Amino acid sequence: MAKPLRVAGEVDGWCTRCRLLLNHRIVSMKSGKPHQVECLTCRSTHLWRPKPPGEKVASESPRSTERRAGAPQAGSRTTRVSAAARLEETWAKATLGRDPRDFKAYSVAGNFDEGDLVRHKKFGDGVVTRIIDAKKIEVLFRDEPKTLAQGTT
Ligand SMILES: [Zn+2]
Repeated sequence: MAKPLRVAGEVDGWCTRCRLLLNHRIVSMKSGKPHQVECLTCRSTHLWRPKPPGEKVASESPRSTERRAGAPQAGSRTTRVSAAARLEETWAKATLGRDPRDFKAYSVAGNFDEGDLVRHKKFGDGVVTRIIDAKKIEVLFRDEPKTLAQGTT
């Protein structure tokens, strides 16, 4: 018969760090079973796992499939949010606290350079972030970047 399990006794268990079934010293017990154990090989203390995690793969696979399917969505949403936040920060740095005289009134007949501040009747204050070509510029407004015409007569 096996030795009764007790605190400071030894038990076989899965070491989460060594990733092996190893001899562990019982640190605490719960409901007659080892709770926390100390790995005698790497000296890390962790919850007692009687079996390698791989033995539960069959029952866990539906959940991990779900996680995989959900992860890219969550990731891309986070990326979009932070990209929007970065744009707004760029916009705020370029336009807030500037002298109103620094803004050029936007007109399709105007000619703009990168970095120019523009005041648009409908979209408000913006900054020219890109000269697309002689007829088109990209302007970052508070809400979103917009492509506007320039040099049109
Ligand atoms: Zn270990």
